[in-house]
Amino acid sequence: MYFRDIVGHEDIIRHFRSSIEQDKISHAYIISGEVDSGKKMLANAFAATLQCEKGETEPCGTCKSCIKMASGNHPDIITVSHEKPGIISVDEVRTQVVDSIATKPYESRYKIYIIPDAQLMNPQAQNAILKTIEEPPEYGIILLLTSNLNKMLETVISRCMVLNTKPVRERDMLEYLMKKMNLTEDRAYFCLDFAQGNLGKAIKLADNSEYVQVIDSVVDVMKKIQHLDVDELAYALEHMQKFKMSINDYMDLMMMWYRDVLMLKVTGNIDKLLFKGEYSTMKKQAQVLSYKAIEDKIDAIAKAKTRLDVNANFDITMELLLLTLKENF
Ligand SMILES: [Zn+2]
Repeated sequence: MYFRDIVGHEDIIRHFRSSIEQDKISHAYIISGEVDSGKKMLANAFAATLQCEKGETEPCGTCKSCIKMASGNHPDIITVSHEKPGIISVDEVRTQVVDSIATKPYESRYKIYIIPDAQLMNPQAQNAILKTIEEPPEYGIILLLTSNLNKMLETVISRCMVLNTKPVRERDMLEYLMKKMNLTEDRAYFCLDFAQGNLGKAIKLADNSEYVQVIDSVVDVMKKIQHLDVDELAYALEHMQKFKMSINDYMDLMMMWYRDVLMLKVTGNIDKLLFKGEYSTMKKQAQVLSYKAIEDKIDAIAKAKTRLDVNANFDITMELLLLTLKENF
């Protein structure tokens, strides 16, 4: 909940702090950025700072408001939740925001609503919140967090202050991964490459106890993908089921594999490879595969990810993916 604990995102933090200093708070913000890029931390720190009784540009940590915030029970900072995984319904927006905001804050200066995954609000839900954003009560502040700005209605976007997260600097990420998380240099660099400026994503990978196994499994599958027979296909599928919980990371790593193959094909440079240890296998794949084939494979993985996002059947999606990756060699 502290700005000082956030790595990177200096522009957004500066914006929040100066708006507090100048007492020019907007009533509606959109924080836009990748999954795990730090949107929630930014929103929480801003909310805590706004509500802190000391009224400075960082939460004091000791007042009644800060203590409640730290315990996750602040009555005037409301995080909107939703029941179904892929949608925030119009009813949920009405009960948790539109109706609720009519009641004055219990004990703080503001009443702050944080809506994570705001892209899951369907158009009706977004229209329901529009009026609140247009004519909010003096004390009302709404923070919409989204990983897909394209899913937000233009009418909503135009009434919000839009803040985009930027990739975190490499050296800041390395410092965090090595000093705070005690990763070895090799592992820190692997997470860094994988996460591409998204510290949350790097932390998740580093924190994943299955991490080493996931990487081994991906390497195992990708090495022999072009020669998979029926038995091995079943074996690969079994692997993916085993890591079902980490399947997003799993597929990101598969993409990184092909990114490496592509890099090798284009530059022949080994230094920038994520999977340096697999250089000889990759070189062979880079020779066999056309640029178009590599691109198609990366697309196929992205498509499989999207399908799983909308709850497509796991086994079928994965089997199709493996067949596609095997096929156009
Ligand atoms: Zn405080």
